[in-house]
Amino acid sequence: MRILIANDDGYLAPGIAALMEACKGLGDIDVMAPEQNASGTSNALTLNRPLQVFDAARPGVRYVNGTPSDAVHVALTGVLTHRPDLVLSGINQGANMGDDTLYSGTVAAAMEGYLFGVPAIAFSQVDKGWTHLDAAARTARRVVERVLAQWPPAGAPVAPWLLNVNIPNRADADTLPWQVTRLGRRHASEPVIRQQSPRGDTIYWIGPAGDAREAGAGTDFHAVAQGAVSITPLQVDLTDHAGLSGWRQSFAG
Ligand code: MN
Repeated sequence: MRILIANDDGYLAPGIAALMEACKGLGDIDVMAPEQNASGTSNALTLNRPLQVFDAARPGVRYVNGTPSDAVHVALTGVLTHRPDLVLSGINQGANMGDDTLYSGTVAAAMEGYLFGVPAIAFSQVDKGWTHLDAAARTARRVVERVLAQWPPAGAPVAPWLLNVNIPNRADADTLPWQVTRLGRRHASEPVIRQQSPRGDTIYWIGPAGDAREAGAGTDFHAVAQGAVSITPLQVDLTDHAGLSGWRQSFAG
């Protein structure tokens, strides 16, 4: 089993070190992560300049001066000598639930593996601050062990899948129940915050994400509010399948 680990908080973040430790003994582990915190960069690829890959002091850890998707893309297409069997991303500092998943670099790093046909899991802690990161790491290991226990026999084709896991910041996280969920929805973000720069320019800060709007039973928001680990299977097809026939009528003739 070859496992590629990435994140969006940067190669020095505590979450990726915890995930590396948690995965010890599960396979050969490579790490490729962004040099800097790239949270909120979604699936961006760097196309207007070359990328460089550096070896970190810690063996097996590399970093790239780019985005989370760059990291996994470069690893899969040019750096790793062997294709990984599994891509893991995280552990992120902060939830990636509902509409967050569209902006998340953590999810994007996993998604890049998925787009290349490799099963992938994104891990996030629900609250910021890294509290109980050790318990989140044990939880991540249990999730990985579960998927490995059901892995197809060697040589059998593995249809790629993408899981988004959100872990409550609790000392007992690794004993919490698991709930397989769908994404909830958030209210629109808070308004931008307008300020004056020291040089007199008007500047804007993107406001914080809105509160959960669709958070009923079955959603990721609901699961973590109930004290469960949320596991959401994701897909990439953005097509509004339910709307197809209506739109075909609208544009007919
Ligand atoms: Mn992040």
